[in-house]
Amino acid sequence: MAFPSDHSRCEKCGYPLRGLSLESTQICPECGHELQASDPAHRVGLPWQHRITPGSFIATFSMVAFHPGKAFVQLRLPPLPEEKRAPQGNTRDEIFLLTCVLFTGLMWSVVHAWRGYVAWAGLWRPTVVVASIAYLLTYIEVVGVVYFSWRQGWRVPFARAERVACYAGVGWLPAGAVGIGLSLARLSGTLDRLWPDVWKNWTLPLSTGLLLLLAGASIMLFETLVWLGIRKTRFGNA
Ligand SMILES: [Zn+2]
Repeated sequence: MAFPSDHSRCEKCGYPLRGLSLESTQICPECGHELQASDPAHRVGLPWQHRITPGSFIATFSMVAFHPGKAFVQLRLPPLPEEKRAPQGNTRDEIFLLTCVLFTGLMWSVVHAWRGYVAWAGLWRPTVVVASIAYLLTYIEVVGVVYFSWRQGWRVPFARAERVACYAGVGWLPAGAVGIGLSLARLSGTLDRLWPDVWKNWTLPLSTGLLLLLAGASIMLFETLVWLGIRKTRFGNA
């Protein structure tokens, strides 16, 4: 497809590039960002967007985990509603997210079963609970991102926020690992023992509150990936 098209924007500042041509200018008239860098040709897609295999899952996972900036610049974006092109489903992206949250849940259950807090036979239960919580929080985040982006004047309709959040699902594994540590510290009584006696008043509501606060902090690992992804795609061209 010819670039810039009627819907092309500068990926850095969002300036509409309609009517410009690469022959007449090489940079964004608004911010001076290289025009070529906004050409969707650089969005070659993540390995998972090409094939669904265990290998492409691992390749995509490590790209998002270790080179998130590069991964989200490469992420192939769904078309915008105003482009009136055939809508794409995000099923493929959802499978990626589901795999991430199920692994997180499984990791949680296995470690708890190994330490004797969960029966091996009932392993599926905490797996499903943890995976569902992560899945639900992902979609709450998507709605929040769409609303915030709309307020900021960024171009992030639901399908785009969803896609970014699905790949940011990589962040659920480290978040889950922190959560497992916290949960074990609570169950084994380590958290109670660490509370300094001089502060007194170690109560159940307090310990639950503290635990929720720490769990919220671990979720930041997922959040950080989402925001990094949105920064790289907020004016992205399909
Ligand atoms: Zn610009």
